[in-house]
Amino acid sequence: MGGVPPTLRTRTGEVAWYLSASLGAAEAHEYAHASGGVVLRGEKGIETANTLRRNGWTGRIWLDPATYERPGKQSDLTLFGNRWAVAQDDLGVAERISPGSFVPAGDQRALRRGLANEVEWLERAGGGRASLALHAGWLVDGTQQVIDALRHLDSPVALALADPTDPLGRSGAVAGLVRIVSEVEDLMLLRGDLGALGAVAHGARQGAIGTSTIVRHALPPGKHGGGVPGDKTPSVFWPELLGFRLGSFIEQLPREAVPVCDLACCLGARLSRFNDERMEAEARVHNRLAIQALIDAVLQLADSERPGRFRSMCQQAIVETETLSVRARRQIVTSRQLVSWAELS
Ligand SMILES: [Zn+2]
Repeated sequence: MGGVPPTLRTRTGEVAWYLSASLGAAEAHEYAHASGGVVLRGEKGIETANTLRRNGWTGRIWLDPATYERPGKQSDLTLFGNRWAVAQDDLGVAERISPGSFVPAGDQRALRRGLANEVEWLERAGGGRASLALHAGWLVDGTQQVIDALRHLDSPVALALADPTDPLGRSGAVAGLVRIVSEVEDLMLLRGDLGALGAVAHGARQGAIGTSTIVRHALPPGKHGGGVPGDKTPSVFWPELLGFRLGSFIEQLPREAVPVCDLACCLGARLSRFNDERMEAEARVHNRLAIQALIDAVLQLADSERPGRFRSMCQQAIVETETLSVRARRQIVTSRQLVSWAELS
């Protein structure tokens, strides 16, 4: 079959941004510049990507069709067979990403069928990454089947994890993901949170971190994501806790317990100022700079040192969360994903 020429392959161990559809081209450019490339999603992503190109962005772009999010659009694969291939070729993408199949937990037939569809598309398109939205249940039960299926492909893989809440919050899911990325040679983890950095630290070729909650994991068909209904305050990345907290939550904490951010986004201001839905764009600038600093801190290290560094960052975040609980006189919860990364042996 075809395949992307070696010169177009990405470098080892990188983390790019995965943009939500609501971002404008100017902001998209900032993200693209920050990580040397950007992943865009679906129909809206084509528009944004075209604008990025028109505005002079010559760096890497990936377009994730993510057709599994839009049931009933199987015509993308049949009637308009190469529609997504044409769109990606017109954009000069770094690598094509196939339209994408959702695989329900434990459904081995769906895994085989989904991969066969994606590979067929790639053969017609001329190569690229075979894309799956894998139900997070596979990370706990069936990891070996996933590894066997992916290792037998001639194509590199793009994987999104599907769950109504955090796919890596399930017991054993982080360990399962680490097994998969260690054993599958060329895997790109799409639409992750900080777990995408963890995956790259453990051997994934590429990771892509979502710019908003909706693109930080995939949803099984017909399922809705979590979140606090009615609370529109921004989701703010708290570097010491290695996690996102709502602006409304942060402002409820004692002022002195909330850190300042010394990066260019905040210039020494406290994170508590984000309790305002009009601060959404400013919060995204903060999130981008604060997360980029963590990405750089891990990826500047040699491959062999990255897992240990990422684990110690997570362990430190748990200590920071406990300290904050004491200072705030209330229980601040650590995500189960973070605990799993910290406990990884
Ligand atoms: Zn900041």
